[in-house]
Amino acid sequence: MKHIDPLADLVTALQRLPGIGAKSAQRLAYHLLKTPREEIDALAAAMLSVKDRVTYCSICGNITDVDPCSYCTSPDRDGRIVCVVEQPENVSAVERTRGFRGRYHVLMGTISPLQGIGPDDLKIKSLLARVAGGEITEIILATNPTVEGEATALYLARLLKPLGPKVTRIAMGIPVGSDLDYTDEFTMSKAMEGRREL
Ligand SMILES: [Zn+2]
Repeated sequence: MKHIDPLADLVTALQRLPGIGAKSAQRLAYHLLKTPREEIDALAAAMLSVKDRVTYCSICGNITDVDPCSYCTSPDRDGRIVCVVEQPENVSAVERTRGFRGRYHVLMGTISPLQGIGPDDLKIKSLLARVAGGEITEIILATNPTVEGEATALYLARLLKPLGPKVTRIAMGIPVGSDLDYTDEFTMSKAMEGRREL
């Protein structure tokens, strides 16, 4: 008969989370063990609610609990300018600058032949469809300044320019190889301001 060890199971489950190694998983598991029952209930409920209620916007691909999302429907935002990012968390990085009042498009990754990710695996068709709608005058390519992010930006520029809009790339004040997610708002603001046409 298999001995069931709830603590070991929890450590194993926590270790599957990104950035959590064996030691951190063990530390978290012991912390949870000592946490009052109500706090555990609240944590479990919050995790389930994320799974049940958060979905992806059918227009821009960002995470949202109402579809279309508030960025896509807000009358205060300029639908003529669309900022293209890799992941939903990059939207928050751009939002933190408080300087951008356009809309977004989330690719859900980058082109990466090494990992077998091609253009068809990303939300590129929906981006082209939005641009074909005719309202968009500028596309800001804000993919990360990594090899994959650069290649994806150039690929998109080639597809988008013939459709009419101005296509710009954020400035590279952001260190090469870094993630927009970890960029402070000053650097991100400068990157947006200094964007250049491709
Ligand atoms: Zn949206």
